[in-house]
Amino acid sequence: MNHFDYIIIGGGCAGLSLAYQLNKSTLKNKKVLIIDKEKKNKNDRTWCFWTDESTAFDHIVYRSWKTIEFLSDDFTLHAPLKNFTYKMIRGIDFYQEALSEISQNTNFQLVNDDVIELKEVNGKVSIKTHNQTYTADWAFESRFDNSRFFPEMPQNHYLTQHFKGWIVETQANVFDTNKIRMFDFRTEQKQEVRFFYVLPFSDKEALVEYTLFSKHLIAQEEYDQNLKEYLSNHLKISNYHIKEVEFGTIPMTDYKFQRKLGDRIMSIGVGGGRAKPSTGYAFLRIQQDSSKIVKSLEQKGQPFYKEDTGKQFEIYDAMILNIMNRKGESIKEIFTALFKNNPIERILLFLNEKTNFFSDILIMSSVPPLPFLKSIRNIFLSRSLIK
Ligand SMILES: Cc1cc2nc3c(=O)[nH]c(=O)nc-3n(C[C@H](O)[C@H](O)[C@H](O)COP(=O)(O)OP(=O)(O)OC[C@H]3O[C@@H](n4cnc5c(N)ncnc54)[C@H](O)[C@@H]3O)c2cc1C
Repeated sequence: MNHFDYIIIGGGCAGLSLAYQLNKSTLKNKKVLIIDKEKKNKNDRTWCFWTDESTAFDHIVYRSWKTIEFLSDDFTLHAPLKNFTYKMIRGIDFYQEALSEISQNTNFQLVNDDVIELKEVNGKVSIKTHNQTYTADWAFESRFDNSRFFPEMPQNHYLTQHFKGWIVETQANVFDTNKIRMFDFRTEQKQEVRFFYVLPFSDKEALVEYTLFSKHLIAQEEYDQNLKEYLSNHLKISNYHIKEVEFGTIPMTDYKFQRKLGDRIMSIGVGGGRAKPSTGYAFLRIQQDSSKIVKSLEQKGQPFYKEDTGKQFEIYDAMILNIMNRKGESIKEIFTALFKNNPIERILLFLNEKTNFFSDILIMSSVPPLPFLKSIRNIFLSRSLIK
């Protein structure tokens, strides 16, 4: 009764994406259980990403934009995205869409319970929750478990991306809905990476977010104070009402997350290393991962597929993390040069790991070389020390 073909632990972004894609595949007759300790009935986050392709969730995209803005002290860019679109999906819409699709398949079940133990016994996976014990042929684990995460090794970098955003509503028409402000670096860097991000939903409503890449979080009052100052000094808004608050953290690390947690247990989501180390963007990478897992299960009967991420992107991520770690404030200058000296499509392709060697050389030669040379030396030294 309590045996399933697949059990998915955590019905958040990765868990529901995997279940959604399984349900659309030839594996839809398999018995699948999704266990999440929470009912996913709140808009607990928004997912943004840019793409030049369609995605499985295009029909629930809440807003999309075709122009981005980049601002620094002495440089402003308004760049049309051409073939790309910057899209936003609200957490609540994603949860409702995935859950409503999955609930129509009687082979798929969802329980709200807290998973307290995960292990392999006699070639099967055993999963204990507060109320039950289940077994499965395969388990997919999306809980972020700190006990499996050892980023403080000498060869790794580890920062946290942390952000607080306010969805503000204004009385006057103040926002330009045609463009998103992807980076506004006009704020004190305090030896870290600090910027603002503005997503307009209408003339009178926008998500305004204060984002930091750093080692430590700051006090809630400091995020609030900076948001207040930004609204007043840069957006010139004094009359507004805060409708919703978003706060989040994402690990930014080149630590190699273990994917194989056992012969029959695979990590997925951020805990499976799906957040891009140097940007924290994970949504699209999670969709791509889910589709590769489903394909592997269909074709080979097991989920572990061979990852073919270009080695060069791992090195670029490590170099950028090394600079952020050592001299965070210099990222403002590097990003300004990047956006000043490259067409926007080249930058977006580079961040999506879709450029070729020639484009990478153009990108690298467009930014100040010294910080990168120092990070190459640091990475080489730290890696050769542990050999
Ligand atoms: C506020 C926020 C905004 C973000 N915005 C973006 C963005 O704009 N673009 C982007 O690409 N990425 C973004 N990310 C990064 C990433 O896409 C998200 O973190 C994404 O939700 C990760 O998916 P996940 O499945 O790994 O984790 P989650 O979505 O957090 O899912 C994990 C699930 O596990 C469940 N769980 C935990 N413990 C247990 C337990 N013991 N038993 C049962 N269930 C359990 C949780 O309830 C949760 O539902 C954002 C992250 C945050 C936090």
